[in-house]
Amino acid sequence: MLSIVSTPIGNLGDITLRAIETLKKCDAIVCEDTRVTGNLLKQLNIEKKPLTSITSYSSGHRLADAITRLKRGEHFALTSDAGTPGISDPGYALVSRARAEGIEIEVVPGPAAFLAGLSASGLPIHRFVYLGFLPLKKGRQTLIQSFKDEECTIVFYESVHRIEKTLQELAEALQSQPDRPVVIARELTKMHEEVISTTVAGLSVTAESIMKKGEFVIVIGAR
Ligand code: SAM
Repeated sequence: MLSIVSTPIGNLGDITLRAIETLKKCDAIVCEDTRVTGNLLKQLNIEKKPLTSITSYSSGHRLADAITRLKRGEHFALTSDAGTPGISDPGYALVSRARAEGIEIEVVPGPAAFLAGLSASGLPIHRFVYLGFLPLKKGRQTLIQSFKDEECTIVFYESVHRIEKTLQELAEALQSQPDRPVVIARELTKMHEEVISTTVAGLSVTAESIMKKGEFVIVIGAR
């Protein structure tokens, strides 16, 4: 069986009872960075387990090996460094192949940063589009320009290295809609959690003043 296990996005207290139980009883864990998952097990007082980094599954034969072991009846948990596996994180190839091979799959849901960002935003979230990380080059400007006509709330991830540039680009692309709300959620569930509500008109100032530290979710209201 393959268990897809979400883990906290910062606050250890957000681990679910099912996640703990699953990590305790599985035979092995396919994760992202073995040090991060090893540390999580330690913090949860779960005995050491064989850990394999998912990156080594990118080559076909390693993936095939995992599938063979799953078919033999081994119980694997799939985790990522934080949040939900497959959400802007590795995991898709393993889940897809396991499903195609008829392997039993269960999901152990939990935190995802974009969901936390959406629910903290105070913006309408009955309809939204999740964009992961914006493309760095090809298609970036076209995508940002398309935000002008988007009728759903938009949510995406940004790293500390690009937060200022991205906010400045949004300010410029959406300048014809100065009242459109924008929320920037930083370090959700962590000690320095911060949720900044602004508008397109205020984005330039926010881009300069925002603390350039940690992890970010950007939410833009519908047009
Ligand atoms: N799988 C994760 C999830 O379910 O949210 C996302 C992994 S993605 C590689 C990492 C990005 O998620 C960060 O660059 C940041 O944009 C966002 N993120 C993760 N944790 C966050 C947090 N505590 N607060 C704000 N954003 C966060």
